[in-house]
Amino acid sequence: MTKGKVVGVNGNMVTAEVDGDVSMNEVAYVASAGKKLKAEIIRIRGRRAELQIFEMSRGIGIGDEVEFTANLLAVRLGPGLLTQIYDGLQNPLPQLAAQCGFFLERGVYLSPLDEEKEWTFTPVAKAGQHVTAADTLGTVPEGIFRHRIMVPFFMTGFYEVVSVSAAGQYRINDTIAELKDDKGNHFQITMSFNWPVKRPITCYRERLRPSEPMVTKIRIIDTFLPVARGGTYCIPGPFGAGKTVLQQVTSRHAEIDIVIIAACGERAGEVVETLKEFPELTDPKTGKSLMERTIIICNTSSMPVAAREASVYTAITLAEYYRQMGLHVLLLADSTSRWAQALREMSGRLEEIPGEEAFPAYLESVIASFYERAGLVRLHDNSTGSITIGGTVSPAGGNFDEPVTQSTLKVVGAFHGLSRERSDARKYPAIHPLESWSKYTGLIDAQGTEYARDILFRGNEVNQMMKVVGEEGTSLDDYELFLKSEFIDYVYLQQNSFDPVDSAVSTERQKHVFGILFSILISRFDFDNKETARGFFNQLRQKFLDYNGSEWKGSEFNRLENEILAYLKTRQTGMEEKGQKILKTLSEVN
Ligand code: ADP
Ligand code: MG
Repeated sequence: MTKGKVVGVNGNMVTAEVDGDVSMNEVAYVASAGKKLKAEIIRIRGRRAELQIFEMSRGIGIGDEVEFTANLLAVRLGPGLLTQIYDGLQNPLPQLAAQCGFFLERGVYLSPLDEEKEWTFTPVAKAGQHVTAADTLGTVPEGIFRHRIMVPFFMTGFYEVVSVSAAGQYRINDTIAELKDDKGNHFQITMSFNWPVKRPITCYRERLRPSEPMVTKIRIIDTFLPVARGGTYCIPGPFGAGKTVLQQVTSRHAEIDIVIIAACGERAGEVVETLKEFPELTDPKTGKSLMERTIIICNTSSMPVAAREASVYTAITLAEYYRQMGLHVLLLADSTSRWAQALREMSGRLEEIPGEEAFPAYLESVIASFYERAGLVRLHDNSTGSITIGGTVSPAGGNFDEPVTQSTLKVVGAFHGLSRERSDARKYPAIHPLESWSKYTGLIDAQGTEYARDILFRGNEVNQMMKVVGEEGTSLDDYELFLKSEFIDYVYLQQNSFDPVDSAVSTERQKHVFGILFSILISRFDFDNKETARGFFNQLRQKFLDYNGSEWKGSEFNRLENEILAYLKTRQTGMEEKGQKILKTLSEVN
C-alpha cells in the first residue's frame, strides 16, 4: 500500500509527498488526531499528490500520515438503494435528518446498504450459460421493482455460469452465483459490488435518440417545452423563483420509474425541508410513500465543497445502475450552481488559470460530461432504459448570461428559464413561455403549439406597446390578440400545484383541453368595443379555471366544457382558416 505524508494544507486541499505509485481520483485517508479522513487525489506532480478532503479539514497538520487505497472513489451498488438518503459519499443520513443535525462525526463511514437484510432471490441464469458484465443472474423484489442482480460491470469478458443459487433469502454479501473464465479461474458473485463514480456505466448495446416525451403532467412543459425520456433540461432561475418547488412537483408526477434527487442546497434549511417533506409525500401511482422509488443525495452549502462535488457523481452513478435494469430514471440536480462553485473553489486552491468569473477553464467540459451521462439506451437483452437529467441553475441576480447557465445551455435539450417577473406576479410555474425552448417533440402537434406561441408572442408585443400608448391607442384587433394571449397564460400555462386535480394533468387531458383552448384561439368575435371583449374573456377564464379544477371526464367536467363551448358561441362569428385546418389535425389525434 502506498503511503505518504502531509507537506501542505490549504483549506480543504492537502498536499502529500508519496512513497510509491498513485493515480488520479484515487481515494486516500489522511490520519489526523486518531481519525482517518477520506480524500481523493485531484492532481499529481512528481512525488507530490494533491488531495481534496471530503470532511472538515481542521486539525490536519504537516507530517500527518496518508494511506492510499489504490481504489477510485466509488459507490456501492445493490438492492436497498431505493428509499435511502445519502450524503455525497453515500453515507446514509436518515437518523441525522430526523434530528436536523447534519454532520456525521468526522472519519465515520457507514455501510451504504443494509448488510443484514434478507432479500428474496429468484435465479434467472442457468449453469452452462455464457454471461458478461450486466447480464442478469437473478432478481430480487425491491419495492415495486424487480431489481436485477447482475454480473458486476467490471467483469467485461465472457464467463461460464458454474452455478446459480436456488431461490431463497440472501443478504447482499452472500454468494448467489459462481462464474468461471476461459482460463479456469472461478469467481463468486454476491448481490452487491462497487463502481467508480466518475466512470460512466456503459454496459449496453447502443444509445438511442430520445424520442418519447417524459410526461411531467405540467402543461407548460409537456405541451410547449417538452422533455424527452433520456433527454436533458435545465431550469435556471433567480432565488425564490420556484426551481425547487418545480422539481418537487416533477419528481412526484413525472411518468418515470425512479427519481434520484441530488440536493446541493443553497441553505441548509432548504435541504432539511426536502428531507422532511419527501418521505411524507405519497406516490400518486402506487399510493405508497414516494420514497419507495426515490433516492436522495443531499448536501448543504455548509458541507465541505469536495463532498458536494462527489454528490453529483454519486447520483448519476446510481441512476446508471437502475438504467441497467431497464428502468426509466429521472435525475434532478438542485442546484448545479453550488456544484460549479465547488469546482471553482478547488480550482482556485490548485492555482489553475481561471476562466470566466474565476470558474475553471474546463467548467464547460465538466458540465457537458455530466449531462452526457443521460440518455436512452438499448440493453443487451433488448429492453430499454433511460436517464433524464434536469438540473437547476441559480445564477446570482437571475442573470442567465453567466458561465454555468451558458455552459449548461450548450448541452441540454430543453431550457425552462424561470422569470422573476412571473414569480413576483405569482404566475406559477414561473417558466418564461417565450424565452424558454425545447428541442424535443411533445404531446401535441407542433403546428398547434406554434400557433399558440405566436399568439403569446404577438400578444406580448401588444402589451408592451399598450404600456406606451395606453389602451385607447390600441386597435380592437390588437386588443383581442392581447386578451387571447392572456387567456392562454391564465388557463393553460399557469397551473396550481396545490390543487388536487390541476396539479397533475394527464396526457389525454392535455390533448383534449388544448383542443378546446385552440378552438377559442382561432375564433373570430363580434366585439364592438374593448370593454365587451374584456368582459367576455374574463367570464370565459373563470369557467375554464373551474373546468381545469374538475375531475377528468366527470359530470362536472362535461358540464363545464359544454358551458364553455356554448358561451363561446354567443360571441363567435367564425374561425380563422389556417387555425381550422390545424384544429382538424389536433382532433384527429385525439
Ligand atoms: P427557488 O428554489 O427557485 O429558490 P423555491 O422553489 O424554493 O424557489 O420557491 C420559493 C417559494 O415560491 C416557495 O416557497 C413557494 O411559496 C413559492 N412557489 C414556488 N413555486 C410555486 C408553485 N408552483 N406554486 C405555488 N407557489 C410556489
Ligand atoms: Mg431552491
